[in-house]
Parts: sequence; C-alpha cells; structure tokens
Amino acid sequence: MIKLSQSQEYSIGGVSATEIAKEYGTPLYVYDISTIESQYNRLDAAFSSIGKRRINYAMKALSNINILRTMRRLGSGIDAVSINEVMLALKAGFAPSDIIYTPSGVDMEEIDIAVELGVNINIDSMVALEEFARRHKDTPVGIRITPHIVAGGNAKICTGGIDSKFGISIHYLDRVEALSRETGLKINGIHMHTGSDIYDVDVFLRGAEILFNAASRFPVEYIDFGSGFKVRYRDTDRATNVELLGEKLSAAFNAFCEKAGRDICFMIEPGKFLVSDSGTLLVGVNWVKQAPVTTFAQVNSGLNHLIRPMMYDAYHHIVNISNPFGEIKDYNVTGYICETDNFAQNRPINEIRKGDVLAIMNAGAYGYTMASMYNSRFRPAQVMVKDGRCHLISRPDTLEDILSTQIDLGE
Ligand SMILES: *Cc1c(COP(=O)(O)O)cnc(C)c1O
Repeated sequence: MIKLSQSQEYSIGGVSATEIAKEYGTPLYVYDISTIESQYNRLDAAFSSIGKRRINYAMKALSNINILRTMRRLGSGIDAVSINEVMLALKAGFAPSDIIYTPSGVDMEEIDIAVELGVNINIDSMVALEEFARRHKDTPVGIRITPHIVAGGNAKICTGGIDSKFGISIHYLDRVEALSRETGLKINGIHMHTGSDIYDVDVFLRGAEILFNAASRFPVEYIDFGSGFKVRYRDTDRATNVELLGEKLSAAFNAFCEKAGRDICFMIEPGKFLVSDSGTLLVGVNWVKQAPVTTFAQVNSGLNHLIRPMMYDAYHHIVNISNPFGEIKDYNVTGYICETDNFAQNRPINEIRKGDVLAIMNAGAYGYTMASMYNSRFRPAQVMVKDGRCHLISRPDTLEDILSTQIDLGE
C-alpha cells in the first residue's frame, strides 16, 4: 500500500514511490508484498479458533505467478475459476489438493481435465452435476449453492439472488440428494459465494445458516463460505469487520461440527481482501487541460489498465505523489482511451502539473487481471516490492505481442 512516510514523501513497502516511477517508468502497477502478508495473517487470525481451516486465494483478482508463490508461502490455497487458472496455480507450485476449482457454465471438457488433474471441484448447475455423475460417479465433488440472498456493492457483483446465474438453487437440494442416491456420486463439499463488497456481518451469518442446512444433508468434508469481504476504498467507506465476523462465524461453525460429530474443513476464498490494498497504479500526467468548466488531468493510462471506475463506478483514491503538499484543486483525472474513461471526477487533489506522477490506490484486485489491449495499447509493467526491494514481475506488452496471435493474410 502507498502511504506518506515520515520523510513526507509517498512510499510503497518502504521504497520511495517517485523513485520507483523514475526507475520503471509509468504507467506501472506496484504491489507491496507486506500488505498482502498482513491481510492474510489478519484473516487467518480471525478464524484461528477453527482447527481445520483453509484460506483459498481467489486468484482472478491478481494472478501473476510471483503473487501466487507469495500466497503459497503464506499457507494459502487457491480458488480458481478457469482451467487456465488451475494450470497457473499448478505451475506456481500448488498441489492439486490445494486448489479448488469453482467455474460457472464452462464446458464439460474443462471439468473433465480438472478431474484428471485431481483438483477439488465445485459444480454450479443441476445439468452439469447430472453430466458429472454420468462421467465421474466415483469422484467426490462439491456443489455451489445459491442461497437467494442479495448482497454486494454493485448489481454486477451480486451473485446470490433468485435470478443469479451462479450456483444450484437451495430449492433443488432434493434433486441433488436423489442424484447422489441413484448414482452413488458423493457430494463432499458445499460452496457459496454471494457477491463482492459485503460489509454486513449478519449477511454472512445468514448465508452460513443456509450453508449449514445444506451441508447437514450430505457427507461433506468442507464448507466453503466464499468471499465478499469488503475493503475500504476511501476513509468514509465501511469495511467488513473481519475480527467480528471471525468470532461469530467461527463459533457457529465449531458448533455445527460438534453437532455433526465430525471435523469439517472451513474454507473462505478472498480475492480483493488480500490484494486490493497492496496494489497501486502509478500513472504519468500527459497534459493538464483546461476546459470551460473542468480541469482535466490527462494521464498515460485508461480503462485498458484499470476498468473498475468505469465498469463498477468504483471509487479509487488518487494522490499526486509529485506534489504532495500542493494547493488542493478539483480535477477530472481522465484516461487516454477513446472513450470517456474518467478515473475520478471533480476530485480534490494537490495541484497537478504536466509530468507529475499520480498514484491510483487500491488497484491490486481486478486491476491488471482485467486489463486489455484496447486501442492497441500495451498493458503496463508490474513490480512487486518485497523486503524493501523492487522486482519486475511482468514487462509491458510490445507490438510483437499484439501481432503474435494475428494471422496476416497479406494484400
Ligand atoms: C471472485 C470470486 C471470489 C473473490 O471475491 P472477492 O470479492 O475478490 O473477495 C471468491 N469466490 C469466487 C467463486 C469468485 O468467483
């Protein structure tokens, strides 16, 4: 995470942010590994009263192999949503048993490969489960259920409602039971992920009750509570109180295990919580453009690098690391893509001048992994800061990268 250090300059993981920008150029994604470590340890501590527990990092948030290795070092497992994510996790050194694969609507061939690789699988529809039973009746499998709770920060990330595309409705659990009875397929886990950005602990607890009810009907080895832990994007935001959640959910879980008379593995799968705060997108100011009513800071980045402000109306705090104590003025910080790609509107920021470097905060989750080559632009380089040292973990794209998948049919 980026912060103002005692020397009154912005630093990331103890390294001056302006120095990083100077050395690697902008635009640039920078990840502070110490933030990931402290978030992981905080979450793990919150659930420490549960004997058998597992945090599975939702790698779609940020999937660079060095970040995955960091997670492995911390003791995390992996939540993968595509077979390619499974492959990357294996490449990063995770054992198949440390990977849980929870895809949505993928073709059966992908699921067949996951079975062959020996990873844990959560199936998210009745039709896929029936097909799974026909093909792999001897492979225990988990199910993703839809609790019919609507929660989440934005309609696009609410995933648990009655019209949700995700999961098997809790109203179909009789059918799951019948299928299991008829085919001998063992349901070994129950999974739920109701959406992102839920701050209300009671929503999680209501979801947990539904999970326990479902779990009591099957010989489950794990219960996966998904994620949705909300982080703070600005000072006034409410964040999930993970300590309170840990206390209440752990108690409920331990009571359930005791009643069931066996040890069940507790799982959660945070993405954003672990990596959002760790990441900063450093961008350079190409121009400060005065329009009749608005001052635009035009930066060398855009929705091709960080789409959250445009796609989810997400607030990302922005600071001018080149002029941290300049006079506060209002700006529209805007990208260079031929779309209206504002990172911020009417935002008070310390005076911005041509050539300044701005830091867009909380860019660790769903930043680079959602980046594209739109406008035939390159995705930026990525750097991680660990123990006070910077390491390049991916280079920017090149024109050759853009052309590499194209087949030129000539004149
Ligand atoms: C995206 C996703 C997560 C992570 O959500 P966050 O809000 O980033 O914590 C967890 N589980 C599944 C199945 C997901 O698709």
